[in-house]
Amino acid sequence: MTMVVFDIVLFVAAVLLIIGLRKLSHPDSASRGNSLAAIALALGVLVAIFYPLQTQNNNYLYIGLGVLIGGIIGVVSAKKVAMTEMPEMVSLFNGFGGLSAGLISLVWLINNGSSGTASDLGVVLFNLFLGLLAFSGSIIAYGKLSGKLKDEHLKIPFSTAVNIILLLVNLGAIFYFAYVGVLSTLHLSLFLVFSLLYGVVFVAPIGGADMPVVISSLNSLTGITAAVSGIITDNKLMLLGGVLVGSSGIILTLLMCKAMNRPLLSVIFGNFSSAKGSENQVQGNAKEVTPADLAVQLAYSQRVCVVPGYGMAVAQAQKIVKEVEELLDEKDVEFKYAIHPVAGRMPGHMNVLLAEANVSYDKLLDLDDANSYLDTTDVAIIVGANDVVNPSALDDPSSKIYGMPILNLAKTKNVVVLKRSMNPGYAGIQNPLFFKDNTKMLFGDAKKSIEVILRELKEV
Ligand code: NDP
Repeated sequence: MTMVVFDIVLFVAAVLLIIGLRKLSHPDSASRGNSLAAIALALGVLVAIFYPLQTQNNNYLYIGLGVLIGGIIGVVSAKKVAMTEMPEMVSLFNGFGGLSAGLISLVWLINNGSSGTASDLGVVLFNLFLGLLAFSGSIIAYGKLSGKLKDEHLKIPFSTAVNIILLLVNLGAIFYFAYVGVLSTLHLSLFLVFSLLYGVVFVAPIGGADMPVVISSLNSLTGITAAVSGIITDNKLMLLGGVLVGSSGIILTLLMCKAMNRPLLSVIFGNFSSAKGSENQVQGNAKEVTPADLAVQLAYSQRVCVVPGYGMAVAQAQKIVKEVEELLDEKDVEFKYAIHPVAGRMPGHMNVLLAEANVSYDKLLDLDDANSYLDTTDVAIIVGANDVVNPSALDDPSSKIYGMPILNLAKTKNVVVLKRSMNPGYAGIQNPLFFKDNTKMLFGDAKKSIEVILRELKEV
């Protein structure tokens, strides 16, 4: 009878989770979707707490401690984290998700390793490998996103060869141990170390602008591990959640590959960013514009386009940008936002920020539409974007971002760049756009600069 109740609760949770995730796809319903998904996961946790105690009723202390410690860390870190640190936090949580799912496989191996069939052992070992790879890879990604780990700290000689060898060693070990059927503590420990090491080697060489693809592929790996762990523990909600995360992660990875114009195999074998260029030389004099002049230009434009980037998140400038949009609307100036798929530091970062400022979805243009629009735009304001507007991606084959599709401002009449200095963006390379004839710089924190522009605009 109790098992039937568990199954019904899990079914309700699964339905809530699917509806919740569906609602996340639109800003208007995203908040409700988040609450529904949270309720679904809370139900899943409750079932997981009581479910195993049907057979092993001595685990309350461990489970209680785990829930308490994990819960406190989760609540405190979610409350403390600044909006700009969200991508790092997502990466960290993704890593711990992978670790937890992987550890379920480890427990299975310890309890059933000697009695499992070859296929059982193979699947469980492969799952352990994926979980640990997602964990150590996400920790390195966290270090890179937070700036604590620089590319030069992570130089691995012959990284592609090391990557392939380590992958083959891990896969070979999985086949061998599944075939032989016994795994000593030493073998298991070595397998854990090599799996963790592969995660490091997988992510370490991937530099600068290529990180989005890695992040989405780590997400999908965690989802796949969770799905397999759902099968191992016969937990249908975990299976469903894992399948959803794993499959959407794969779709996102493919979209990110498309956005970066990188083949998926390059991700798996970590040979991104191998091109070397002399990209940090200053290429001329950048011209500046005053907020007053820009305000006049904006007021007399027909079409204005904002190109947001990571700096908009740092400055938290989205709400003040929206006020400029409203003022220009009153003056009958057409106003759009050009969204690059990898702008910011996590997939959908710009959409989230602009939704928070209540920017209407129909004002947002995706890459292709934005590029057509920018060709006929009077003034484009780049708010803290850099790599995603770097023309080296189009015309400098030696650049490490060469081939990545960008928001192309070559034909835009006037381009104004809001940033604090001439420092490069995430990829660490200088941007020739800043020295072009049609470009002017407005130095300073983006939010403060736009506040002044708004004041001036009200006077025009
Ligand atoms: P970039 O990192 O290229 O540039 C951001 C710019 O914002 C910097 O040049 C910085 O210049 C400026 N900035 C920072 N703070 C402020 C501020 N307070 N006010 C004004 N400007 C500010 O960002 P993009 O969005 O153009 O590109 C994203 C990059 O991140 C790409 O290389 C992408 O591949 C990578 N990435 C993306 C991920 C994703 O999933 N979207 C994940 C991981 C990496 P200054 O210091 O002079 O102010």
